[in-house]
Amino acid sequence: MLDAKLNFKLLEMCSRCGACYSICPSCMNIPGYDPRAVIKDILNGEHEKWLSSRHIWECLECHYCLEMCYQHYGFENAMTALRNIAARKGLHPPQVKRGWEMFVKTSRLGEPALPARKKFGLPEPKASGAEEFRKLYALLQERRAAGNKEDKTK
Ligand code: SF4
Ligand code: SF4
Repeated sequence: MLDAKLNFKLLEMCSRCGACYSICPSCMNIPGYDPRAVIKDILNGEHEKWLSSRHIWECLECHYCLEMCYQHYGFENAMTALRNIAARKGLHPPQVKRGWEMFVKTSRLGEPALPARKKFGLPEPKASGAEEFRKLYALLQERRAAGNKEDKTK
């Protein structure tokens, strides 16, 4: 599953580079956050041990590593791939699950603070498009279910 999502050739180069380590805000500020260790384990076929780790959720997706990377690849690809697998296995932190449930329900990650907006003279927030999103999401789930059925008959 991981092989299809990551470019192992680029990761191999990445494991020998480490240049963006010194500009990654999470590397600089979060003890134990070390994409080089994660990439080393991915290359050794041991990515599973990171799936329950909080560190894979500590990448800020700021894209600094991507911007400065001579391969235009970046540490963040490894973190994103692991987070996706962890989420599919239900290993994501509870706050991520709560955020997703809120997003499905409202198409927002938080309710706009209306009194604060008024105080600062900000306009009314636009409609979130929750209805359209729910329709698209239902369609996606239908397609997934149909795809799963098809896979089982093969
Ligand atoms: S996107 Fe890259 S630079 Fe930014 S926090 Fe994640 S790994 Fe670090
Ligand atoms: S993401 Fe790019 S710059 Fe950063 S360590 Fe890997 S190869 Fe080097």
